[in-house]
Amino acid sequence: MKAIRFAGAGHPLSLETVPDPEPGPEWVVVDIEAAGICHSDLHIMSGMDLGDLAVKRPVTLGHEGAGVISAVGDAVREFKVGDRVGIALVVHPIEAGMFTPGVGHDGAFAEQELAHVSTLVRIPDNVTFAEAAVATDAVATAYHAVRTAGSVRRGQTVGVIGLGGLGLNGVRIASLLGATVYGVDISPAAHGPATEAGASACFGDVRELAARNPDVIVDFAGVGSTASAAVEVVRPGGCVVLVGLGGAVAPIPIASLVLRNVRLIGSLGASKDELREVYDLIARGALKPTVHEVPFGELPAAMDRLARGEVQGRLYTRPRAHLRMAAEAA
Ligand code: NAD
Ligand code: ZN
Repeated sequence: MKAIRFAGAGHPLSLETVPDPEPGPEWVVVDIEAAGICHSDLHIMSGMDLGDLAVKRPVTLGHEGAGVISAVGDAVREFKVGDRVGIALVVHPIEAGMFTPGVGHDGAFAEQELAHVSTLVRIPDNVTFAEAAVATDAVATAYHAVRTAGSVRRGQTVGVIGLGGLGLNGVRIASLLGATVYGVDISPAAHGPATEAGASACFGDVRELAARNPDVIVDFAGVGSTASAAVEVVRPGGCVVLVGLGGAVAPIPIASLVLRNVRLIGSLGASKDELREVYDLIARGALKPTVHEVPFGELPAAMDRLARGEVQGRLYTRPRAHLRMAAEAA
């Protein structure tokens, strides 16, 4: 099968033929019908240190995968060939260990992906593969950050920084929970989609949130300046949730944090139950992630656009469909 491989920092992505995956007893083969493209893929390519998560090189990138099961291992009982599944990035509860496809083992930028049965979540009939794929991270991670880590409740005021793949869903989820939401993004092009997603107003600078006295700020940009400004402008006793990995360090204003009783929380991924809840919200029409399709063969160019901040919502690709179309056209 064909897969987009990453050999290590400084190496370009390359489309390669790799052996077809064979499922071990507790594993299944998923024919990938949609794979979302995350900004973290760019961080991985630039050599960000992900510690124990990044043990495999070369690796097939792509950690937002969804498709149809085409083979099951001997010990798999709950799923069968033909089932539509999303492959969850199970990082909660943290005691359970972490399954991180596209980071520590081969991911979704391929015709097929090997997935452990414990990571599979059934896709409801009226959720598309594209929605199901991007929901595994761009929606579920935002859901965990806003609802679980930030404990956002009805009537609160929430600031969302970084209105991209994750942040736009953060706006939707905070609105759905009944909060008044204000968005912040340095790219003015991100403001319109965020307003449509439920933001009351959007700004170019985090400091403009100060006048709104936010109870919670969720920072999906995570460059040092956004995290430190968030600590300063959140209300006394408020909470800043850090999700973005845009910078290596943030200078935290200690007096603002301590004297104003601000809580600063890191938030990684979501649980499998949270992905189920997100699928249910999408199925009921309560949540609709913005997705844009890019050809599998143009994935490196699409990632360049993402790096330049030229993407609204979430990009996804369809490895099998696009390879089939390219073969038929040749
Ligand atoms: P994205 O590129 O789609 O969106 C990022 C947005 O942040 C863009 O709209 C960009 O204009 C904006 N931005 C950049 N610098 C800014 C600044 N100084 N102030 C305000 N806005 C700014 O990226 P994404 O896929 O949504 O990912 C966002 C971040 O979250 C990345 O760093 C990614 O690695 C990280 N991430 C974390 C987790 C987690 O579990 N914690 C999961 C997925 C992604
Ligand atoms: Zn991601």
